[in-house]
Amino acid sequence: MENGNLKLAIQKKGRLSEKSIELLRLCGLDLDFYSERLIVSARNFKLDLLFLRDDDIPEYVQDGVADIGIVGEDVVYEKQANINVCEKLGFGRCRLMIAAPANCLPQKIEDINGKTIATSYPNILKTYLQANKLQAKIIQISGSVEIAPSLGVADLICDIVSTGTTLMMNKLSKSFNVFDSEAILIANNDLNLNTEKYNILLDLIGRIRSVMSAKKSKYLMMNIPKDSLEKVTKVIPSLKSPTVLHLADENSLAVHAVIPADKVWSIMNDLKAFGASGILLLPIENMII
Ligand code: ATP
Ligand code: MG
Repeated sequence: MENGNLKLAIQKKGRLSEKSIELLRLCGLDLDFYSERLIVSARNFKLDLLFLRDDDIPEYVQDGVADIGIVGEDVVYEKQANINVCEKLGFGRCRLMIAAPANCLPQKIEDINGKTIATSYPNILKTYLQANKLQAKIIQISGSVEIAPSLGVADLICDIVSTGTTLMMNKLSKSFNVFDSEAILIANNDLNLNTEKYNILLDLIGRIRSVMSAKKSKYLMMNIPKDSLEKVTKVIPSLKSPTVLHLADENSLAVHAVIPADKVWSIMNDLKAFGASGILLLPIENMII
């Protein structure tokens, strides 16, 4: 189906699906979903969405079946696909770690030497072992890796850890960190500069960046006593100079500013101490800087 649209592969069903679609919607793409459809076109953007198993995405992008894809870094590095990494997307964060039963937990990295490790990520693990000059036997398992030590198949495992609940249920503890992953946008290496598809990709990346910087910021609105303006502007970590508006009450001003989301709570007490009232914090959907 060659219609000139940019083809984006995303995970059909799994941990990255919902967040990938949410990101595209925040980018302003109007997407219709019909369950079981494998290809969907955006109504207002020259883009087709392909829904795939995440394991297939790196190779499909490498081979040009899809032009670009959203997939976990772990899968991209494991598959060793020859693609371009365009952008880290800030969701789907997880860690690939060595874990083991308490009686076999490596205390120092050399303790991994001579052990048998079960994993679904043999390539990433091999690279890690080589980088740390370790010798261990890798057993490749495609799922339920946590069960391998209790079955006597392996001494250790190397698997994705997020909350650690699955590990606990299988009486395993975390040990060394092997790989940090998050969702990334990847592109086919042959996507040529100056083609229409490349321009669509640049447009999409620009939108993604504006969505991501918006997520890191909040819109702060408040009223302050007129004579606190100098003190208030000093503590606001604003991107630009804050907007100051007059109110009907001559002794008060309204102050609006875009501030980094992680700074919000550290300035709240100061703002209150300077007499700020009616403090509102709003999410920002898009930020075009
Ligand atoms: P598929 O059916 O598409 O093959 P899957 O079962 O292989 O799906 P998921 O479990 O949905 O894959 O995970 C997809 C990606 O989400 C992983 O490759 C990883 O990058 C990320 N991920 C995995 N586990 C977590 C987690 N606990 N928290 C956050 N992200 C995770
Ligand atoms: Mg998979």
